[in-house]
Amino acid sequence: MAKTTNITKYTCDRCHGSAYLTDGDPRTSSDWHQITHTTADGVTQEALACTSCQQEFKKFAATQDAVWAAWLTEGKD
Ligand SMILES: [Zn+2]
Repeated sequence: MAKTTNITKYTCDRCHGSAYLTDGDPRTSSDWHQITHTTADGVTQEALACTSCQQEFKKFAATQDAVWAAWLTEGKD
């Protein structure tokens, strides 16, 4: 029976979907994404996301970007 080594299990921190991929498999970067979020206290949090959840995160982050930009300019006249 064939034996494959160097396999990593990827699990999405949001939906818990997972995959077993060998080192060097292009899906390790095309299907899995390390995302970051900075809390109100300035703490950077990281999570691993599948592509679907990463797309949802980007929508969420875009709304936060808009709020940030509005907040940053509202104090100026
Ligand atoms: Zn997911």
